[in-house]
Amino acid sequence: MLMIFTLERVWWIDMKLEFLGTRGNIDARTRRHRMHSSLMVSYYGKHIMVDCGEDWLGNLSDLQLNAMLITHAHPDHVWGLKKGAPCPVFAPQEVWEEIEDYPIQETRRIEHRRAIEVEGIDFEAFPVDHSTLAPAVGYRITDVRMTILYVPDVVYIPDRDEALQEAQIYVGDGATITRSMVTKPGDELIGHTPVRTQLTWCQKEGVPKAIITHCGSEIVKGDERVLRSKIRELAHERGVEAEIAYDGMEVVLR
Ligand SMILES: [Zn+2]
Ligand SMILES: [Zn+2]
Repeated sequence: MLMIFTLERVWWIDMKLEFLGTRGNIDARTRRHRMHSSLMVSYYGKHIMVDCGEDWLGNLSDLQLNAMLITHAHPDHVWGLKKGAPCPVFAPQEVWEEIEDYPIQETRRIEHRRAIEVEGIDFEAFPVDHSTLAPAVGYRITDVRMTILYVPDVVYIPDRDEALQEAQIYVGDGATITRSMVTKPGDELIGHTPVRTQLTWCQKEGVPKAIITHCGSEIVKGDERVLRSKIRELAHERGVEAEIAYDGMEVVLR
C-alpha cells in the first residue's frame, strides 16, 4: 500500500495527550470517570504518565511507559506506585519523603522551577497551594510548538503568570464548579479552587483553552450535559473555550 505523508508529518510529530483517568479523590465512579486522574503525554512513540493514583495499582504493565511524573503524594495521585514502577519516576523531594518505602527502582528528583527534559519533552514543576501535608506542583509541559499546564489539584498558583505564559491549554481541577472548597486552617490555603476561578485565570493570562479533569462528585454524579454547558458558558463569558475531560479522551496538539 502506498503511504503518503504530508511534509508536516515528516517534520513534526505531534504531541498527544490522553486522559487515562479523570476522577478525583471521591467514592463515586462512572464509565466516563472511572480511574484516578492521570495524563499520558505521548511524543515520538514515548509515553510519559503524569500521576498514578490508587486505581492504577496493578494496572501499569499495559501502558508501555517510558517515564512517570508525580504532582503530589495524595492517594489519588501516587498510591498506584505502592508495588513499584515499570519506568523511572520523576517527583519533587516532598513526594519522595512521603513514599520513601515504595519499591521504586529508578527515582529522579525534580527541582521546583527548573525545567528538565524527559523523553524529548520539557517539564517544569510550579509549586501550587493545595495541601500542607502533601505539597503539590503543576507541570508546565512544552514541546517544540505547544505549551500546556497540567495542574489537577490546586487552590492557587503563586507564579501563575509564568506558569501560563503563552500556554495554549490549561488542564485544571474539576473538584468543584462554583462552590468554594478552599479552607485556611493555618497560614496556608488548602483544598480546591472552583472551575470558575480557574477560567478567570485563563482569561487573565490569555490562555485560549481549558480542559477540566480531576472531577469531583458534582460532575461525576451530576448530569454532565447540563454541567458541560454551564462550564462552557462560564468559559465563554471569559473568552475561553472549555470542556470536561473523560477517561480515554485524546487531544492531539498541533
Ligand atoms: Zn487529587
Ligand atoms: Zn490532592
